[in-house]
Amino acid sequence: MQDVIIVGGSFAGLTAAMQLGRARRKVSVLDTGLNRNRYAAHAHNILGHDGTPPGDLLARARAQVEHYPTVQLVQGKAIAIAGEPDNFAITTEDGASLEGRRVILAYGIVDHFPAIPGFAECWGKTVIHCPFCHGYEVAGQRWGLVYSSPMSLHGPVLYANWTDDITLFLDGHEIIEQERSKLDKRGVKIIDAKLKSIRHDNGQLHSVATEDGQQVELEALYAHPRNHPSADLHAQLGLDMTETPTGTMIAVGDMQATSRPGIYAAGDLTTAMHSVTFASNSGSMAAMGVLQSMMG
Ligand SMILES: Cc1cc2nc3c(=O)[nH]c(=O)nc-3n(C[C@H](O)[C@H](O)[C@H](O)COP(=O)(O)OP(=O)(O)OC[C@H]3O[C@@H](n4cnc5c(N)ncnc54)[C@H](O)[C@@H]3O)c2cc1C
Repeated sequence: MQDVIIVGGSFAGLTAAMQLGRARRKVSVLDTGLNRNRYAAHAHNILGHDGTPPGDLLARARAQVEHYPTVQLVQGKAIAIAGEPDNFAITTEDGASLEGRRVILAYGIVDHFPAIPGFAECWGKTVIHCPFCHGYEVAGQRWGLVYSSPMSLHGPVLYANWTDDITLFLDGHEIIEQERSKLDKRGVKIIDAKLKSIRHDNGQLHSVATEDGQQVELEALYAHPRNHPSADLHAQLGLDMTETPTGTMIAVGDMQATSRPGIYAAGDLTTAMHSVTFASNSGSMAAMGVLQSMMG
């Protein structure tokens, strides 16, 4: 019986594992190796690691975590979970069973790419979700933003930190006249028509074509596709969930505790604010929550 089973061995899961390993707790980390930022050549805005390829960052993290003798990294996909505090069992796709007193869910989310030719090929290169991660490199250039929810209207205000050349693609959505004139005053160009395709060269964006025949040349296109959790263990456990503009997340309270005793959750799975630093922070917090729940 392990003290903790962590499902997901990326930024949130490995941070929790390191903290628990340093507390000499017995931990197993189950992972399928599909970190969300694997599409990007470099990760940014991570103190001490700015510009490092995400795969290199995680390889180094795994080596450091594995150094702790009570931590075991297991390659495998968790498919089922059952049990109660002090006695949880997780089954993997290849039939193994791991038992633990506590569980941290850190299996991240999956982005649903819209069926626009070129979108998937450019994702993480020039079609990007976050200006803090990948905005500095294209500052001062021509940016586009695909409208996906009323939250998208904050985009042009934020993006003004990086560029004054912004086109908002409403992609067939309607916005009220008041919002339209606010954007107009800011110099934001608005295109109402639906997106048709993205012209690119190996993921390097050239232009966006709309269904009404317009072609807009751009260096970067911001987009926030709908996402959903990468696994369904939270549903098997009947955990409380919370809605965000881009998808449904696991609801967490103090120290990343979920609605079920003994189950903690961390990383992108628990927030609409997605970054390596946020994921690591919540992984660390979940480890503290787990430790606290096992004391006394
Ligand atoms: C294209 C792109 C670029 C980004 N660039 C940056 C950046 O430059 N800087 C930055 O700070 N943030 C960046 N982000 C955000 C960052 O990638 C995420 O916030 C971060 O990866 C979240 O970490 P996580 O541990 O919660 O989840 P993830 O990194 O998604 O990891 C989840 C892990 O769980 C595993 N897993 C899933 N299901 C199972 C299962 N059933 N059993 C076992 N394991 C499972 C997966 O294989 C994966 O290893 C970027 C995101 C994207 C989409």
